Amino acid sequence: MHMKINVTLPDGSVRNYDAGTTAMDVAKSISEGLARNVLAAKVNGEVRDASCPLPGDCTLALLTWNDTEGKSTLWHSSAHLMAEAIEALYPGTKFGIGPPIENGFYYDIDLGDRTIGEGDFAAIEAKMKELAGKKSAYERREVPKADAIAYFTEKGDEYKLELLEGLNDGDITFYSQGNFTDLCRGPHIPDTSFIKAAKVMSVAGAYWRGDEKRKQLTRLYAITFPKQKELDEYLVLLEEAKKRDHRKLGKELDLFTFSEKVGAGLPLWLPKGTALRERLVNFMKKAQEESGYEQVATPHIAHKDLYITSGHYEKYGKDSFQPIFTPHEGEEFLLKPMNCPHHCEIFKSRPRSYKDLPIRYAEFGTVYRYEQSGELHGLTRVRGFTQDDAHLFCRPDQVKEEFMKVIDLVLLVFKALDLKDYEAQVSLRDKEDRSKYIGSDENWEKAESAIIEAAAEKGLKTVVEYGEAAFYGPKLDFMVKDALGRRWQLGTIQVDYNLPERFELEYVGSDNLKHRPVMIHRAPFGSLERFVAVVIEHTAGRFPLWLTPEQAILLPISDKYVDACNDVARVLKSCDIRASVDERNEKIGRKIRDAELAKSPFMLVIGEKEAAEGNVSVREHGQGDLGTMSPQAFAELVNARVREQLGSL
Ligand SMILES: [Zn+2]
Ligand SMILES: [Zn+2]
Repeated sequence: MHMKINVTLPDGSVRNYDAGTTAMDVAKSISEGLARNVLAAKVNGEVRDASCPLPGDCTLALLTWNDTEGKSTLWHSSAHLMAEAIEALYPGTKFGIGPPIENGFYYDIDLGDRTIGEGDFAAIEAKMKELAGKKSAYERREVPKADAIAYFTEKGDEYKLELLEGLNDGDITFYSQGNFTDLCRGPHIPDTSFIKAAKVMSVAGAYWRGDEKRKQLTRLYAITFPKQKELDEYLVLLEEAKKRDHRKLGKELDLFTFSEKVGAGLPLWLPKGTALRERLVNFMKKAQEESGYEQVATPHIAHKDLYITSGHYEKYGKDSFQPIFTPHEGEEFLLKPMNCPHHCEIFKSRPRSYKDLPIRYAEFGTVYRYEQSGELHGLTRVRGFTQDDAHLFCRPDQVKEEFMKVIDLVLLVFKALDLKDYEAQVSLRDKEDRSKYIGSDENWEKAESAIIEAAAEKGLKTVVEYGEAAFYGPKLDFMVKDALGRRWQLGTIQVDYNLPERFELEYVGSDNLKHRPVMIHRAPFGSLERFVAVVIEHTAGRFPLWLTPEQAILLPISDKYVDACNDVARVLKSCDIRASVDERNEKIGRKIRDAELAKSPFMLVIGEKEAAEGNVSVREHGQGDLGTMSPQAFAELVNARVREQLGSL
């Protein structure tokens, strides 16, 4: 008699199969179409080869290109395919590691005396395509350590031999496809035919195991797709992303700069960028004021002891900026990596009662964190940045209401910046292992359900991730899609049971006993630097009217009308409109083109007729001619739009 197993699918349905059935068999039993798209399988929560027999009764999710893990399985498998292509084209190449990354994968290789340049990419791509077409299966086999060592010794690959040193007998698997065999834990796609399009993206140097004392290998970045069309679309998107790169636009729009003398990762804000930043700051200050926040201000450095108490020194101390010494023996200060400890000390500065709570301290606090120079990237990865930080100290029964209020604040930001596509991600404790979390079970349960309820009551599209909470508390993040469909994590709201404990924060309850407050960290923008980068790339530098550095540019048809333009500019200024006059002695056509490049939302043209009537002729970007109107009417048009964008603020 055959043994039977029960397979539970994600929709909760249970299907019955013979023992030994593979995930691929299950897919085929559902539909041939599905089977053609299955890249891997998630069995009891673990990603595995779709060709592996199921272990018995289990939960099963069939992973396709639409799943993050399906994608990374295809990309990781493609790294093996690229290695096979390279071995064919450059015999004797030695291989390091080849993991999937956010977009595609790479392989670190040692080519000996040879080099690979952009001119070689096409040949590698063609070889990959040729090999993919052979439909070679990715075959898994368990290998005794001695045999594995013998294989790579014979091949002369010292990198794989070094990787083997860290592995135990019984734990070693090889995967082979076509003529290539790799040491790998897997999982992989069923066979190479799932890879329909390949593109080698770039080549860089990378030290073996990230250690600069060791050999520099060649890192080859590439990406693959299950359809040629998807590669084509990706390349178009990449071109568009290049045009929107905030580093490029930041320069063109005069927003910020970097100086080697000042230091890498330390942005310098130019006047236009600073004004834009100020508008963001004022927007947030106003919104926070209406939500009962109080502004505080704290210094840029603090005693090392503060960060020993907070635990930040233990976590970041050695890998970050080193202490600042004073003439006083043994006295050490640190640049602040976080504002929270300072705010805890403010909370502690006097006794608190339950009636005082919640207390909400807000600060645009500049913090400093050392990032490896290779990690720095424009405004998105820097060494000094300003957070729109705030810390809420509340009673456990106030967590839900505080979350709802912060969610409102975050949504206000999204509306003002025209970010329409987002979902909330709620990070909770591991369902099984609860030993790694601090704070009482009761408080955790209260906070977790408060967050879920708050998100539901606000009507947010929500995904719940178990095991993703920090050890010190659950949190809610927003995953926001920008105009190019890229995902950004913004607006984190984090519960913290750790710092109140470490700083021994307390308040006197209605029972006259002392209690620990719950602390909530939140920063809707995150950091102003990163946020500005996101907004630049989302809007391609065409900021919403309320935020844009210049709302209108006045263009005199000839020199004769410069005075008339200046008169109008004065009127506009008195109506809070930001406008400038292009006084250059250039043809009007040239001025219009330059105003276009400066991404000015409105051009106001003044010639003989307009000057005589005291009017302006209005052209709006993307809309064309709006006709002639008085400066006051134009100001009202702009201000009405701004009010619309800012909502209740
Ligand atoms: Zn692999
Ligand atoms: Zn904080």
